[in-house]
Amino acid sequence: MVTAYIALGSNLGDPERNVQLARLAVGGIPQTRVAMASSLYESKPVDASGDDYINAVVKIETKLNAFDLLAELQNLEGQAGRALPQDRTHLHNAPRTLDLDILLYGDGAIDSAKLTVPHPRMRSRAFVLLPLAEIAPQLVSAADLQAVQDQIIYKLR
Ligand code: ADP
Ligand code: MG
Repeated sequence: MVTAYIALGSNLGDPERNVQLARLAVGGIPQTRVAMASSLYESKPVDASGDDYINAVVKIETKLNAFDLLAELQNLEGQAGRALPQDRTHLHNAPRTLDLDILLYGDGAIDSAKLTVPHPRMRSRAFVLLPLAEIAPQLVSAADLQAVQDQIIYKLR
């Protein structure tokens, strides 16, 4: 079993419902269980226009390797109505019904074309760090939080 952390985000359709359903769906991935889930947060898009995002982070225990886990997460993104990666237009930070990112996979470091872990931008995003700090305070430092304190984010429930 490997402990991994997944970031969930949505800003299209019914974002709160999309994230809640995704949280359940992640628990339905084979050989995977959700060990802990953060509250839902609402954040302003970073470097983009569009509606506010709903964000959350979940801690999972999985027997899948990181690439199989990524494939399962991309399936869920597809089921939520988001185009599969190969079909996407290359709009940077485009609005999405569901974004599922692997933040951490055990203490592994992966740097391949398809997958980079730890997620390279996780320390610069309040919408990752606040929910992550809620369920894994040991993984987020005071300096991390201070670095994103200008980003607008609210804890919902
Ligand atoms: P982003 O989440 O950065 O806004 P996308 O969700 O569109 O962008 O992801 C684009 C690509 O990022 C995916 O096709 C996937 O292969 C790749 N990727 C690299 N590292 C990761 C990771 N840690 N978690 C999820 N996807 C990743
Ligand atoms: Mg993504």
